[in-house]
Amino acid sequence: MKYFSTRDKSLKFSFKDIFLRGLAPGGGLFLPIEIKKYNQEELNNLSKLNYQDLAAEIIFNFCKEEVSKNQLKSLIEKSYSSFKNKDVVNLKKLGDINLLELYNGPTLAFKDIAMQVIGNLYDHLKIAKEKTVNIVVATSGDTGAAAIAALNNRKNINLFVLHPHNKISSVQRKIMTTIGSSNIYNIAIKGSFDDCQKIVKELFNDDNFRSKINMSGVNSINWSRIVCQIVYYFYSYFKLKKDNISFSVPTGNFGDIYAGYVAKKMGLPINKLIVATNENDILQRTINKGEYKPDKVKPSISPSMDIQVASNFERLLFYAVGEDDQKVNLLMDHLSKKGFFKLDESTIQNIKKDFEAVKINDEATQSIIKNINDEFDFIIDPHTATGFGAAKKIKGLENIVVLGTAHPFKFKDTVKKATGKNLEAPFHLKMDVDKKEKFDIIENSNSQVKNYILSKVK
Ligand SMILES: *Cc1c(COP(=O)(O)O)cnc(C)c1O
Repeated sequence: MKYFSTRDKSLKFSFKDIFLRGLAPGGGLFLPIEIKKYNQEELNNLSKLNYQDLAAEIIFNFCKEEVSKNQLKSLIEKSYSSFKNKDVVNLKKLGDINLLELYNGPTLAFKDIAMQVIGNLYDHLKIAKEKTVNIVVATSGDTGAAAIAALNNRKNINLFVLHPHNKISSVQRKIMTTIGSSNIYNIAIKGSFDDCQKIVKELFNDDNFRSKINMSGVNSINWSRIVCQIVYYFYSYFKLKKDNISFSVPTGNFGDIYAGYVAKKMGLPINKLIVATNENDILQRTINKGEYKPDKVKPSISPSMDIQVASNFERLLFYAVGEDDQKVNLLMDHLSKKGFFKLDESTIQNIKKDFEAVKINDEATQSIIKNINDEFDFIIDPHTATGFGAAKKIKGLENIVVLGTAHPFKFKDTVKKATGKNLEAPFHLKMDVDKKEKFDIIENSNSQVKNYILSKVK
């Protein structure tokens, strides 16, 4: 399987290359040259598999040259052995909505599902065999924790996690700052998630620095994360046994929902993918009005979605403009010079064939948490609540699955406010409440982050 960049179709990369780099040279995102499309008979066969074997079948399509199917199977078994459910995920009916619980991994958010596999892939691909790899990642709260749980104590790997200072929940921060061993560095940036993401992208685009520290990335722009997330769209469809399925997805960086788009390209009969956003609604504005214009980040009660630069959107854009890398370049250039770009009518219509988008504000999110608790005696987290809210707003869809992206304990203060209930930590959570937190606070500055990393890298 070969990969190219959304901004240059002539560049070609292997799976190992794109796994290591994350971001393409020149700032584009990687896409596979070919996407496997399953026919009905193949779908029938896949429907008989358990979660782990289904994952191996689907992921194998994207990394054939580097991993055998049997190796992949055992790697996936190992990756999900720490999950609460043997099925990894769980589909639950709440009235006329289906909730897909994706938060049964060690750090209680869907990010564990891809990150546990990625941790083991670093070893399998022998990426850190000869030289120490320094992974730099920006987090809006959950990616960092999942990455730490997956990469803790791995030989020849250092992990630097940038989170926005004071802009994530205290449980989110404590998971990151108490479970890490000596190869983990937590950096609180005085800024927003977008600032953290910008710094990481700048470091990646600095060839000198990147090669000096043998830098790698695990942000949601890394294609291998998307690949692992495709699996649960298939799993839901097979469990639900209904055609005309739609998904409502709490969205920030457009990674999780983009995996649903790839699932559709692979032949899964998905009707609509609903983008659920909080007040940071750049995607809602883009899809409904055609203008992509990042605003200032507004802190919300669903902090993992407090993002204005939805990086993975560029992958959808590539297809929506007719797989034209030059058009993507023009739009991205406009964005960086003028601070926005506009989509023409045909591009918007292409996107609307597959997507709907709805904004749910904090007040509505709180009442959704309360209403679900009143009606079903069941607690959902504020991110998942936006997914419920968006699903209810779009009329005429049936068989909707809402992606449950985080366990409510991670946002227990918000849950308490909405329902009056005090949540206990679930037993499978990795967090050492007695351990002293370890993190450093740094200015929102690319050069200060560079210096910090250089001082830790020997
Ligand atoms: C990361 C995250 C999201 C957003 O996912 P994207 O792939 O960035 O769109 C939503 N909810 C939770 C709880 C998250 O951690």
